Amino acid sequence: MIFRQLFDHESCTYTYLIADGQSREALLVDPVVGNATQYLKLLSELDLKLIYAIDTHVHADHITGIGVLQRATACTTIMGEKSRSDCVSAKVGDGDQIKINGIDINVIYTPGHTDDSYSLLLPDRVLTGDTLLIRGTGRTDFQNGNPSAQYDSLFNKLLKLPDEILVYPGHDYNGMTVSTIGEEKNYNPRLQVSSEDEYVRLMNSLKLDNPRMMDIAVPANLVCGIVDSIKPDSNGS
Ligand code: FE
Repeated sequence: MIFRQLFDHESCTYTYLIADGQSREALLVDPVVGNATQYLKLLSELDLKLIYAIDTHVHADHITGIGVLQRATACTTIMGEKSRSDCVSAKVGDGDQIKINGIDINVIYTPGHTDDSYSLLLPDRVLTGDTLLIRGTGRTDFQNGNPSAQYDSLFNKLLKLPDEILVYPGHDYNGMTVSTIGEEKNYNPRLQVSSEDEYVRLMNSLKLDNPRMMDIAVPANLVCGIVDSIKPDSNGS
């Protein structure tokens, strides 16, 4: 398997390129519109064909690149079935598989950060979107976020995975790139709670500013990032 973790400096977003070395089929998870040219160059350099461009949820802090990538490559765009977006070619739900030739990815519905948040499980790793971050968890205070739902997604779904499963989050703000389920169980401060109520209180006590781009990003992402004023590389990264 070919696996690349790509970073958007402006929004601290991780984008993942996953591909099969034999078939050369590829997918991109959580691409950022401003980096579309970089992704296309990398796909070309690695001789890969983009089959899917996937968003783990409707983002509030950056504009998705899935629409631009579809225009460039005719790939299939995917969001979760709980997403209110009508722009994608396909929607997936809990228990579904996303398949490229040589790689099967299992979809896990992990609401809480938003009500349309999904994680993507491969045999040895899980892409957790903004549900589980390294030593943190995604905020739950907008876009139908819900700390009770997030507790359930974390404790009854993601933390039930084997301890050695690698955790690749949707963002990191502290320079961390990868963790494991076992490591997060032990050292993630948000997970050191003894009850759902305690987790809900913890999340509700966070007083966070809204993301800078939220008013622009959410409407843009509901149309797959295709709006007239948005062009690849327009965010300067
Ligand atoms: Fe998010």
